[in-house]
Amino acid sequence: MTTYRTAANRYASFRDEVFASSGSQVAEPSPIDIPEMELQAMWFGGEFGRHFSGTRGETIEIVQFGHWNHSAGPDFTEVAVRIDGQLHSGSLEIDLSLHSWESHGHGANTHFDDVVLHVFLNHDHDGGDFYTRTSQHQEITQLRIDPAWLHHAKARDLAEAFPGRCLTPLQQLSDTAAETLIESAAQYRLERKSRRLSAMADATSADQMMYQAIAEALGYRKNKYAMSIMAQRNPIKSMLLLPSTAREAHWYGTAGWMQTEVHDASLSEETSTYLKDLWQHWWKIRPEIEAKDERRAIKWHLAGTRPVNHPQRRLGALAALVDSWNAASAIWKNPTADITKHWTVLLESLQHDHWQHHYTLHSKRAAKAMRLIGQDRQRDILGNVLFPYCLADHPELWAAFLSLPAVDGNEKLRRAQLRLFGTKKHPTIKRYYQQQALLQIYDDFCLEDTSECAECPFPEQLCQWQ
Ligand code: SF4
Repeated sequence: MTTYRTAANRYASFRDEVFASSGSQVAEPSPIDIPEMELQAMWFGGEFGRHFSGTRGETIEIVQFGHWNHSAGPDFTEVAVRIDGQLHSGSLEIDLSLHSWESHGHGANTHFDDVVLHVFLNHDHDGGDFYTRTSQHQEITQLRIDPAWLHHAKARDLAEAFPGRCLTPLQQLSDTAAETLIESAAQYRLERKSRRLSAMADATSADQMMYQAIAEALGYRKNKYAMSIMAQRNPIKSMLLLPSTAREAHWYGTAGWMQTEVHDASLSEETSTYLKDLWQHWWKIRPEIEAKDERRAIKWHLAGTRPVNHPQRRLGALAALVDSWNAASAIWKNPTADITKHWTVLLESLQHDHWQHHYTLHSKRAAKAMRLIGQDRQRDILGNVLFPYCLADHPELWAAFLSLPAVDGNEKLRRAQLRLFGTKKHPTIKRYYQQQALLQIYDDFCLEDTSECAECPFPEQLCQWQ
């Protein structure tokens, strides 16, 4: 067994050498096209950290990330930013493109006059300088998010499904070399997740980071950021001060599911009663929570979602978990080698009168109670959130991570197995870390390759891994 961190460093060096051997140049990244609200959620969640350099070399520290704006105007209000040592309070605007400031009309809009920082991602190269200015012609400091930080967020198609050129060199590795490669790639992936969570905890708090990361995991790939925004707009600190129904009124209201048009005649009597309880709180908080500008409303992706994974039901699972927040947080605050067992027992015990029997607000009552969080999702939260967070201070948990069982694969994992092992389901892949390692190699090499393996440097460089 490898030790924690040593193996990740070994994979990182190997990866750098493989890229260096391919002679690939670091080019100006092409513009990244992601939904603007996802970029805002990453920023507000603290994924990029809080210390930056401005486009003119200014030293920038985000002292307060502020609040999501529910109305027209800048994206975040009540922000505090230290620029070259001087504290500025006001609003903050995030745009995908630098030039959106003018094309969206912010420069002539007095609602944007108190913006203290303009954050953007893509720099439209037109050969000239672009100044962000208010309607009063005051210049606003600009901060560019490094596109390299978002590499993982780029919409990348899956690589074509065929056995790869590295199949034979991989088979020729000794058992020991193959195992250390897999452990090292898995550890490298886990360390990157760990760094992301640490940055988020530093920007918010450990509790908020954990709440947000678990909400994300419950959103699956399609609704990851929708769940994250929902958790950002309803911080755990204030949620824990409320009774359960008030919390749920905040969440379902923020999600857009407390609107009267959702509550039509097709609701069952049981669901109507459930929503009536939430409305006892909702009518009081609605004015301050409901998005007044359609652009601010959370966008849910429901097409192709399995009923059991519908986000309305996932929110019910989050509600049950937050009801047991003290027990849950004790698991990651004082982790032991039995972390998997403790987490599983807790999640199996979660209960919610309504959501154990319903898939959505409009579905009929299921006769048999359903688990709120299934086995695969329990493992994914462990593998993506709890272990990465706990291992930073408890490297002795590496052995426990290695023993976490595999989850049912998705199409990406199946293609990774086909490419690297020649079959979509390999009998030796029985652990979560093995799946994570395959995904890491697939991300690093298969998704970067545009030559159908012909020019991929990975097979030739594998001989170094003996
Ligand atoms: S792209 Fe490279 S790593 Fe991926 S299957 Fe082909 S040879 Fe293997």
